[in-house]
Amino acid sequence: MKEVLMGYQGEMSLKGLNKHTFEEALMKILRYRLKPLGEFKVYCAQSTFYMEPMSDDIDMDEAFERVSKVFGLAALSRSVVCEKNFDTICQVAEEYLGASLRDVRTFKVDAKRADKTFPMQSPELMRELGAFLLSKHPHLRVDVKKPQFKVCVEIRDYGAYIHGPKIPGECGLPVGTSGRALNLLSGGIDSPVAAWRMARRGLALDHIHFASPPYTSDRAKLKVMALASKISVYTGGCNLFVVPYTKPQEYIRDNAPDVLFTVLMRRSMMRIANQIAKRIGADALITGESLAQVASQTLKALQCTDSAQDLPVLRPLIGMDKNEIIETSRYIQTYETSILPYEDCCTIFTPPHPKIRPEVSEILEAEANMPGLAELEAEAAEAAERIRIRLGEEIEFV
Ligand code: ATP
Ligand code: MG
Repeated sequence: MKEVLMGYQGEMSLKGLNKHTFEEALMKILRYRLKPLGEFKVYCAQSTFYMEPMSDDIDMDEAFERVSKVFGLAALSRSVVCEKNFDTICQVAEEYLGASLRDVRTFKVDAKRADKTFPMQSPELMRELGAFLLSKHPHLRVDVKKPQFKVCVEIRDYGAYIHGPKIPGECGLPVGTSGRALNLLSGGIDSPVAAWRMARRGLALDHIHFASPPYTSDRAKLKVMALASKISVYTGGCNLFVVPYTKPQEYIRDNAPDVLFTVLMRRSMMRIANQIAKRIGADALITGESLAQVASQTLKALQCTDSAQDLPVLRPLIGMDKNEIIETSRYIQTYETSILPYEDCCTIFTPPHPKIRPEVSEILEAEANMPGLAELEAEAAEAAERIRIRLGEEIEFV
């Protein structure tokens, strides 16, 4: 029996004339994800993506796992396809799903007939196939409301597709269809979640990390690489820019009022991120900031950070509670890495009492007293190290 993977469109199906652009983008991603496993034929018809293995030795568990993490699919199934003939459908359904039916007590058959030339209407097909399966498994009972198992048959142009219950997909839009952004990635819990959320809205992304050696160690960098590699199963391969931030940071420490240090540093980071974003053609910055989480994330502080540069700053976690962010970080499997100890440049030199409601005017005044900062920032941006993070590459950090 030959299995086929099927992916069902979600939000993409609401797109108008440019729908095919989204479909093409998603097919390209699916092909890319599947390619290392063997040859697949990937195509889209009737708002469904089909992924057909071209040889028998392909690891379909791994294939399913890979495509289930691709944004743009609302649901997925693993099906077998057979001739559109009622007797064949019965035989194949029993052969493919009989073992699953042996393990449950209630079931139902769901049928969809996209090909209207098929002689049986859906209710009749459900009834007749249900009766056939009951005859094979007399311990079963039909429960149309809450079945323990669902046998699905879809009569489509290319054949009859038989599968068990659909599995929910990651939803969202295919990565790259919304443009490109640069994500500010620290080693904490929040910023990997922010990256995941924005990639889910169709953004292709690269990461930028600020390191301040010797205050921060190579281990901190390794941690960020490990996080970027964990989210690459969703975002795809990407670049991680590591900015040597020691000099601008020391300069701010030595030349600015203590209480404004953090917000001045965040503005400085934004300016550097802006320079790198423009170099790589990214049209927005992403951060893991959440309103009022810390002193630098009050409305006033965010206003100061926003006005430092001209790209939009996307903050997908702005309205999320920490426990919700943690839940997502567990889901995307970055949590265990995020909670391991590390030094972040944001936490060195921080004053004990940062100003919670800084005014833009006082910030500009403080910056006017730091004439050497812009040059240090330009040098740091220039010296950024580019690390290529490959899709699914395991980077150990323990
Ligand atoms: P996280 O848990 O992601 O570290 P946080 O709650 O610790 O976030 P902050 O340290 O104030 O908050 O940082 C806010 C955001 O600024 C982070 O989510 C991240 O986007 C960015 N950021 C902080 N430190 C760095 C860094 N060293 N390099 C790049 N971006 C950073
Ligand atoms: Mg942090």
